[in-house]
Amino acid sequence: MGSPLSFSFELFPPRTPEGLAKLPAVIGELAAVRPAFFSITHGAGGSDQDGTHETLVTVVEHSGVEAVPHLTCVGSTRAKIAALLERYRGAGVKRIVALRGDLPATAMSPSAPGEFHFASELVSFIRETHGDAFKIEVAAYPEMHPQAPNPGEDFDNFRRKVKAGADGALTQLFYNADAYFDFMDRCGKAGISIPVVPGIMPITGFANTVRFCNGCGADLPRWVRLRLEQLQDDKPALLDFGLDVVTRLCETLVRNGAPGLHFYTINQSGPTLRVWKNLALRTPAPA
Ligand SMILES: Cc1cc2nc3c(=O)[nH]c(=O)nc-3n(C[C@H](O)[C@H](O)[C@H](O)COP(=O)(O)OP(=O)(O)OC[C@H]3O[C@@H](n4cnc5c(N)ncnc54)[C@H](O)[C@@H]3O)c2cc1C
Repeated sequence: MGSPLSFSFELFPPRTPEGLAKLPAVIGELAAVRPAFFSITHGAGGSDQDGTHETLVTVVEHSGVEAVPHLTCVGSTRAKIAALLERYRGAGVKRIVALRGDLPATAMSPSAPGEFHFASELVSFIRETHGDAFKIEVAAYPEMHPQAPNPGEDFDNFRRKVKAGADGALTQLFYNADAYFDFMDRCGKAGISIPVVPGIMPITGFANTVRFCNGCGADLPRWVRLRLEQLQDDKPALLDFGLDVVTRLCETLVRNGAPGLHFYTINQSGPTLRVWKNLALRTPAPA
């Protein structure tokens, strides 16, 4: 895997004083391999809007790497989203991950209060109010969003987000490369050519991997699940096995045309950097 590949790292605003204290070191360690950007999650309904902004500032101060806020719209209003966009534009933000977010089902029904119900509406709003000032990334679901009635309607929604003005997409985590390739085939047939970057979650445990997969509807291959269960009391062996599984997944994706990799770091540098080093990715030359 010789050529430089675009890769990015996702962080969340720390929820504890300990998490906050160690964040600059984590950012520094991850920044050393020169990712294209750090993205920073945002609670639905604006619950941690200040946290996203503070983490964004920490990224800029400790790395100089582009910081990309996630923006969730469900349960929010045009006025609140407009204020956030102004704040981000004033802070020099050039790219946004535009999402619906998750709130209780009542908040997502089209009759519920809140002026946005789907991410496509947020993408349209950003384009209407800010033109091309922001590059917009959206979420993609190779294995279907868990609340969608079927893969066809979910793909129609992805197409709506692209039509509304998305420049690129980051996928939900997955461990089955074929799901991604099938999604890319569907994009090709639909004439969608924006980059769709796989979301990669390093494996660090049995229970948390099962929980993550159940939470987002990702298929955890049976043999992986069984091996993780078997190794759960032998942490070093589990980490080695998880590293092999995720490295092979990334190799398969990159070898078959994935335009980059987006790592869900869970605010830890170790698991992501082990995969990164195992892949022998080259740090891009300075522009
Ligand atoms: C890369 C990535 C980053 C994420 N970051 C965050 C984050 O920072 N904060 C957070 O809270 N969550 C985050 N999430 C989770 C995300 O918010 C949830 O998956 C959420 O349930 C859907 O968001 P979305 O933007 O994909 O929604 P949408 O694209 O709006 O889709 C949501 C559902 O509605 C359906 N749908 C869309 N439009 C229509 C329509 N017009 N009619 C009928 N059905 C429709 C879709 O098929 C889908 O089932 C992230 C997910 C990913 C993949």
